[in-house]
Amino acid sequence: MSESTDVTVDQPKPIVYGVAGALSPMVRRIVCENPSSMTGPGTNTYLVGIDEIAVIDPGPDDARHLDAIAGCGGDRIRWILLTHTHPDHSPGAVGLRERTGAQLMAYGPGPEDLPLDGTLRDGDVIEATEYHLRVLHTPGHASDHLCYLLPEERTLFTGDHIMQGSTVVIAPPDGDMQAYLASLDRLKQIKPRLRIIAPGHGYLIEDPNAVIDDYIEHRLAREQQVLTELRAAGSTTIPDLVSRIYVDVPAELHPVAAYSVWAHLRKLAAEGQAVGDTLDDTWSVAA
Ligand SMILES: [Zn+2]
Repeated sequence: MSESTDVTVDQPKPIVYGVAGALSPMVRRIVCENPSSMTGPGTNTYLVGIDEIAVIDPGPDDARHLDAIAGCGGDRIRWILLTHTHPDHSPGAVGLRERTGAQLMAYGPGPEDLPLDGTLRDGDVIEATEYHLRVLHTPGHASDHLCYLLPEERTLFTGDHIMQGSTVVIAPPDGDMQAYLASLDRLKQIKPRLRIIAPGHGYLIEDPNAVIDDYIEHRLAREQQVLTELRAAGSTTIPDLVSRIYVDVPAELHPVAAYSVWAHLRKLAAEGQAVGDTLDDTWSVAA
């Protein structure tokens, strides 16, 4: 005889494009309709605060999305904060600034085509009446990458430093695996311990430290594979290493994998275990 059990699982808030969903007393999310293999369901734009709003990552230059953000916050939007300046996160800042008059801030100096109203550095704090946001410089995915900590809710907005549902691409030369792992490790030191990660793509992450550990473990396992295959070959090319390591991955994804292998090799080179520099180099084990 069997007894049926109804297991209730907390479902993540469903994503409805262009509509603000409340995630907590202080945080709302609007998802841009730019889903893809690189952006998951789309880019998450977060609105923090009620009376004085900080918008984190306005997303691409998508008028409907920007209208939705402005419609939610209007002139209460005081700051537009960027996690980094990749095309799915930052270009909408120009249009949102026009719509709201908010101050655009990011890691300085920022790209030439995106003039900032203020630059941010590690340790800076955005002071709003109801909350504050602490700035963490987290290079790795991009050299200008910032995360924003909302201590009142022990929530970290991670942009593409951590995304839900997949790992992130580390593409040299701006992407840096050594810096990335150090930036991941740093998140575990945040006191008090994080409760929620609000990623740039995908749903909220409710067990931050476990996910960070998984991320680090995954990268270190891949690094071991790269080193093992490089040792077996003695000296070889990145496409050769990719075909040895990514046996189960369709060939059309191999160019992306090549960047990842390159990132691992550069870390190994910086640590004195591999010799080589560029994507096209012949790489070898250090003597
Ligand atoms: Zn992204």
